[in-house]
Order: sequence, then structure tokens, then C-alpha cells
Amino acid sequence: MKNQRMLDELTELMRIDVSSGQETEIAEHLVKKLEQMGFAITRDEAGATFGGVCGNILAVREGERDGVVCFCSHMDRVPGGIGIKPVEEDGILRSSGDTILAADDLSGVAAILEGVRQAIESGKALPKLEILFTVGEEAGLYGAKAFDVSLLTSKTMYVLDSPGRIGRIVNGAPGRALLEAQVFGKAAHAGNEPEKGIDAAKIMAEMLATMETGRLDENTTSNFSHLWSKTCEAMNVVCDHAILRGEMRSRSGEKLDRYEAYFQSHCREIAEKRGARVEFKRENTFLPFFIPEDSEMIQIVTESLKEMGIEPQINGGGGGMDGNIFNQKGITCVGIATGYFKNHSTEEYLYLDDFYHAGELVARIIGRIA
Ligand SMILES: [Zn+2]
Repeated sequence: MKNQRMLDELTELMRIDVSSGQETEIAEHLVKKLEQMGFAITRDEAGATFGGVCGNILAVREGERDGVVCFCSHMDRVPGGIGIKPVEEDGILRSSGDTILAADDLSGVAAILEGVRQAIESGKALPKLEILFTVGEEAGLYGAKAFDVSLLTSKTMYVLDSPGRIGRIVNGAPGRALLEAQVFGKAAHAGNEPEKGIDAAKIMAEMLATMETGRLDENTTSNFSHLWSKTCEAMNVVCDHAILRGEMRSRSGEKLDRYEAYFQSHCREIAEKRGARVEFKRENTFLPFFIPEDSEMIQIVTESLKEMGIEPQINGGGGGMDGNIFNQKGITCVGIATGYFKNHSTEEYLYLDDFYHAGELVARIIGRIA
């Protein structure tokens, strides 16, 4: 059923020009709305950590009864989201074709606002409500990384930021880590005495050519796309330094560790055979997470969905979201889909019925918090 209030609020937010790091205008807008609903606002300095000007917004409304619940969405959007003109047709919202729609993640923001509003309007005593609107999510989860979770009372968080139909609950996401091998060979004049050198570039190429990469299993992948060698600088010298750099992703932290071990032993073996030395580096972008289906926080969502006549679909997500970071920081997060698809492209669209249901779902979750 159409919810004109939700649609108006959503399109109003979409028309505000926003990019990662430049969220001030939408943040001020949201603060006003939240204050009108009785929330106290805390801001932080998250923007400064990635060259932005705006911080995260934490809005807290004290409860009239026991319990606490936390909802999160991000205020920024991917590039290409300036001058959005939303167009509604046959129950679907799209951009006019030359921008993204920013339903990722304003559908989440607007669903939270609506759900809270419905809960307040119900006149029932409510639990403590915590709403976190983050900055810089699309640029690298910067807002979540900078946020001090000790400000939260809730130990769980519903993150409304997942593509898919209403009913989809994202209870896991892959982790990602960067891997690097630095190969140290030996320089020699390439024309006079190449046999005295140890060619690091060639060794790096051998490492990559014989390594297992790409799809490693159903939910583990790797990709090495950054190759650097000193040969780029001096063509008449046998290369003595080369770097192989890439990423691995998996839903299993154990599999990430296992692939890292494989990567190291594979490269070391080749380096030793060729008389070179190798050094390794690993950097976690985010670690994987998985929340069991029978956990209380998921049960609250599935029961609420069933009340609405919507079949829950619990599955893992594809990419990184704020939830990855918060799970790492000890706040248990699941993602909730709000009905958008093809996000990060000009073809992005939103099922409005799903979006309206997402607002109702937030209200029902609040009602079920004990
Ligand atoms: Zn998003």
C-alpha cells in the first residue's frame, strides 16, 4: 500500500546533493527531523579521518520501558549522485537516467525515520532507540571505522543497507584482505653479465603464473592485479626488486588464513629455488562475519516479517558494509534489504512496496524489543 509520507521524504532526501565526505547538508536535514521526534544528537569527527567535513550522527531517544534497539544506515552515496531527479512509474522509483538513485542508502534512512515515527504514533511505551547515520561508507566504511561504539547501549544493530527484495536478511558478509609479496633479487648489467643477476621481475611473474587465483571455492576468491618491478625504470639492469599485490575474499576467516599460508609457501618456494628473498604483508580491509539464523536478533525480524505476510530469506551478502566493521568492533549486526537493486549504477531502482514495508518492519522490530 502506498505511503505518500515515506515517498515524499525519500525523494526529498534524494534531491539533496551529497557525496562521500560532503554529507553536511543531508546531516543537518536529518538532525532536524530527529530532534522533532525527541532524539538527542551526538556528532563525531569521522569526516576528518578521510578528508571529509561531516561526522557520523548518533541519535538517541530514551525509552519509556526496558530494552534498546539500534538501527544504522549511511548518509553518503557513490559518485554520480548529484542532481538526482527521482521518477516513479508502476510502483518503481528510478533516477531520470543520468545519475544514480541513491536508494542505497536513503531507502534505509527513510525506512528508519518512518518506522520510528510509526512506533511513536502507536502511543505505546517504547524501548530506548539508537539511530546511527554514518558518513563515508561508500568511500571505504570510514564512518563506521571512526565511530566509537562505546557510545551505544545496544549490543546489536540492524543495518538497513542491503540490495534485494523486502524479506532478505543478510546474516554474513565476506572478509577482504590485501596480500603482498616483495621479491628481492640481484642487480647486474643486463648486457654485460646478466648471469650474475637474479631477476626479481621474472620470479614474480613465475609466482603469479603458477599460483591458484580467481574463484578458489564457492565463497573464496583472490585476484592479483598490481604488479610492479624496477624493470619499469631501468631496462639495462637485471631487476632486483619486484612487488606482487592483490586481494583475497572469503566468508570464512579460516579460509582467508589458509589462502594466505598457501600464498606465502608458494612464493617462498619459488623464491628459494631462484636464489631470491621474499617478504610478505597482509592488511585486513574487513573480516568476515556470520550470525546464526536462530539468534534472537534475527528471530525478531523473521517473526515481524511473517506478521506482515512476507517470507524471510536469510543469506550472506556480497560486499563490505558498515556491518562488517561493527561486527569486528563487537556489535552484532545483520543487514536488512529495503528493495533496491543495481545500486552504484544509473540503472538503480527501488520497489516502492518493499520500501514501504521496510518502514513498517522497523516499527514492528521496535515493538518486539523486550
Ligand atoms: Zn550502501
